[in-house]
Amino acid sequence: MARPLIRGLCAVVLAGSAGAAILLGGNAPASAAVTSTVGTVDSGSTPLNIRSGTSVSASTVGALRSGNKVTLVCQVTGQTISGRVRTTNIWDKIADGRYVSNAYIRRGALSPCPSTPPPPPTAPTNVAVTSTVGTVESGNTPLNIRSSATISASTVGALRSGNQITLVCQIAGQTISGRVRTTNIWDKIADGRYVSNAYIRRGALSPCPSASTPPLPPQANPGVATGWVIPVPGTPAQLFRPASNPGHDGVDIMLPRNIPIAAAGAGQVTTVECNTSGPNCDVDGGPNVRGCGWYVDIQHAGQVATRYCHMVRRPSVVEGQWVNAGQIIGYVGTSGNSGGTHLHFEVHVGPGYAVHANAVDPIAFMQRMNAPLGVLTTR
Ligand SMILES: [Zn+2]
Repeated sequence: MARPLIRGLCAVVLAGSAGAAILLGGNAPASAAVTSTVGTVDSGSTPLNIRSGTSVSASTVGALRSGNKVTLVCQVTGQTISGRVRTTNIWDKIADGRYVSNAYIRRGALSPCPSTPPPPPTAPTNVAVTSTVGTVESGNTPLNIRSSATISASTVGALRSGNQITLVCQIAGQTISGRVRTTNIWDKIADGRYVSNAYIRRGALSPCPSASTPPLPPQANPGVATGWVIPVPGTPAQLFRPASNPGHDGVDIMLPRNIPIAAAGAGQVTTVECNTSGPNCDVDGGPNVRGCGWYVDIQHAGQVATRYCHMVRRPSVVEGQWVNAGQIIGYVGTSGNSGGTHLHFEVHVGPGYAVHANAVDPIAFMQRMNAPLGVLTTR
């Protein structure tokens, strides 16, 4: 889901006017072909993302507002989404490279697409891993080896076109358009070493045993027994909804740039986005810039969500990824509506997306979780 600009973040830098929703595209025309039907978007107050593939890990290529009519050409299966209309693995195709989750669409019957693309691999539990030898096909440019299944991960090596490489298993990651194919599959070479399958010719390969779903072993965090940890050290300066800023739905913890930010609890990353009225989130924001900057939302068990705003650069995690309490998700910065480097941290309790109505005081919540904010711990 594309998010509207998140307003009223920081009391110290409170700015005036409301931000407009970021919409990357409008109604998408159908390219005809099979049977088509007109559907109605039902996504509440947040826009519905149009994706390049049938999973939230596919890139966003546009968005639709709730109430928009959209012509749908056929349906395919993909990632299961729980939306406002239903929970389903059906995605409705608008045109090649343009899909919306049927979980947010009201419509009549629709034919399956003629050549249904393979669904994204689900993460099975313990599958025997077979390995295979693949051949790199990347033309004149080397193929980067990455520390995780996204091009935002660091480069840890490279392979030349024609190189043979032993691949141990495959995982789902960022969708890449390469010389061989367009795919969200990444081939694992070894722990911390992945190459995009978009540039690899190979035979069958098993999904990795713990591809993305089962959380990794939790990191040590002395003194915390509940599974919740403080996201950063430091005492909140700006509090939750002070009288001077009742729209401030979190707390601000002032910290130097590049301090690591940890997931406060185990859960699934639901949003990784740049939310700004400025040019982008890789530059410092300011009091007159709107939005949360580079931010992450994590959905935890028990209808709890946490939000981490104003990161210095693209977060270290991707949408759909499972994280543990204490796992580093990004670094402190001052992108978006922010007058200085800090972490804006929100906690939401209740059904649905994290909004003003379900925000709770992070200080009281983290106290209950036995990980009180402001207590310096070593991590
Ligand atoms: Zn704030």
